[in-house]
Amino acid sequence: MLKSLKTILAGILAAILLVAIVASAYSAYAAKSSSTALTTQNGQGNGQGNGNGTGTSVLDIPASDLSAEETAALLYMREEEKLARDVYNFLYTTWGQPTFQNIAASEQAHMDEIKVLLDRYDLADPALAPGQFTDANLQALYTQLTTQGALSLADALKVGAAIEEIDILDLQERLAQTDNADMQQVFTNLMNGSYNHLKSFTSVLFTQTGETYQPQYLTAEQYQSILTSTTTGNGNGNGGQGTGGQGQGQGNGGQGNGGQGQGGQGQGQGAGAGIPQANISGAATVHGTVVSYDLTGMSITLDDGAALYVQLGNSRYNQSIGFAPQVGEGVTIYGFVGDQNLYSAITVTLDSTEQVFTFRTETGQPLWAGGNGKGNGGNH
Ligand code: ZN
Ligand code: ZN
Repeated sequence: MLKSLKTILAGILAAILLVAIVASAYSAYAAKSSSTALTTQNGQGNGQGNGNGTGTSVLDIPASDLSAEETAALLYMREEEKLARDVYNFLYTTWGQPTFQNIAASEQAHMDEIKVLLDRYDLADPALAPGQFTDANLQALYTQLTTQGALSLADALKVGAAIEEIDILDLQERLAQTDNADMQQVFTNLMNGSYNHLKSFTSVLFTQTGETYQPQYLTAEQYQSILTSTTTGNGNGNGGQGTGGQGQGQGNGGQGNGGQGQGGQGQGQGAGAGIPQANISGAATVHGTVVSYDLTGMSITLDDGAALYVQLGNSRYNQSIGFAPQVGEGVTIYGFVGDQNLYSAITVTLDSTEQVFTFRTETGQPLWAGGNGKGNGGNH
């Protein structure tokens, strides 16, 4: 009992670290995509240049003996990530919806992360050709999910969300069964990726079809807490080729010292699930009540009872415009599917005061872009 609690605590700690890493990768990506903003460094920043990603390899963690259970977990998760990749590639071919292609690339990165551990422990790779699986259950699931996903785009997006739900539950189960730090790191990273993928699929489902997703495997509480989790970066935090990008310092007030230093070099793959150019076709207005607000986004319950995560600005910008919604407050949001395939707000209007907060221009450009430079004076 004690041991499993310890394992869980270690998992939570790892998750927190990864949240920070992934958030930083996202910042790096956001900073990069806001182009010229970096030229306005003016010495205010005391950012904590915390680049992420490929610098620390999972192989830096000492290897441990594998139990039979841990061996089975690695083999199974390698194929489960492949299931996700193969189904999304199939659905991209079928529907041409770029979300599938982007997330398939992320699943390839997840497969690669597990492959590193397979190699480390001399385990034979079970991965076969696309659409082919060593595990009979996964083979059956592949057939079922591709059949279902071929029915309509809405079905395809629901299949995507369902795969992520299954992935999250399987990873949680496997995490609880291992005390190996290297496996914990990889599985936690994959789980954070799945959180983001789940948010993406459900956002796109909503904006493309108006349908709100109901969780099929997770409990309502688990689903809600994932929507409110702050892992707004994409899941590709590590592994594979970094695409550079300046780490954006997290400048938080205080002493304007220097401004020479740079934020850490974000090495995450910003390219994973991002849409560099805002495409606001399909922008939609929604109404609901605030469930939580995490400084960069908020989770709301729509009037029909469904949950939706709304991406806002960065925390500094949101604070600068005085945006601080209260839990339970009614809000009307005009937004579109933007970066990371998340539903992104252009404006949020508070019911109580009818005050309108603007986060993006009518063409979807972030209004906080010009502010990015400020955070960049790193202390490294
Ligand atoms: Zn994955
Ligand atoms: Zn995924």
